[in-house]
Amino acid sequence: MPVAKLRPISSHVAAIDLHAQFQVAVFLVRHEHGLLAIDAGFPGWAYAVLTAAQSLPEPNRITHVVLTHAHSDHVGGAGILATECGAEILCSETERPFIEDGRSLATAACSLGAKLSLTLNHWTQQRKVPPVKITGTVAAGDQIGGLSVVEMPGHTPGQIALVHERDRLVLCADALFNVRGQIGYDPAPGVTADIGAAEQSMRRLADIGVDDVAPSHGPALLGDARERIAQFLERR
Ligand SMILES: [Zn+2]
Repeated sequence: MPVAKLRPISSHVAAIDLHAQFQVAVFLVRHEHGLLAIDAGFPGWAYAVLTAAQSLPEPNRITHVVLTHAHSDHVGGAGILATECGAEILCSETERPFIEDGRSLATAACSLGAKLSLTLNHWTQQRKVPPVKITGTVAAGDQIGGLSVVEMPGHTPGQIALVHERDRLVLCADALFNVRGQIGYDPAPGVTADIGAAEQSMRRLADIGVDDVAPSHGPALLGDARERIAQFLERR
């Protein structure tokens, strides 16, 4: 059984679902000159991403990898994708030191619980990520390959989401999870650096005004994302 399979989401976007300790998606976005990869998956899974990209019609070179945030399940394959494809590696300026310099996300934690949990995560997971050289940064409002950048801090300090304007789809990274049949922004105690900012980001996600939202963990919300986010926030 294949472990990485393309899951079409919209006209220009497909997800590759990688399964290790849990599922995480890398998104491939078609643009005029090739593909953008949104995130790079767990360490060791870059060749699954490359194989999936090469299965698409040409031009299918990954020209850019846009890293939404510093977690190891999102940036793990970026170094290999850069080497194999000559891809540019982009992220937000705020997230850059956590990706490029290996700074611990615990330094951005807003509670003692998050500080402890993120310190543990740094030593057990983040430090295993092969080095990644960031070749450029993106900021709110920037456009790349049909996507526009939106800031989504909270889960990490410099997390970004990407809005595909033509497909009316948001790739929201970990601003919203859709796991175990429910949506939320804090999937396990202590993984969210700043809970207050994460809740604000979920409100901002609904305010984008797009009803199709694809999180990095779990199925996409197609057609009813704003309604489901509103219901979730009401219950809190
Ligand atoms: Zn994450």
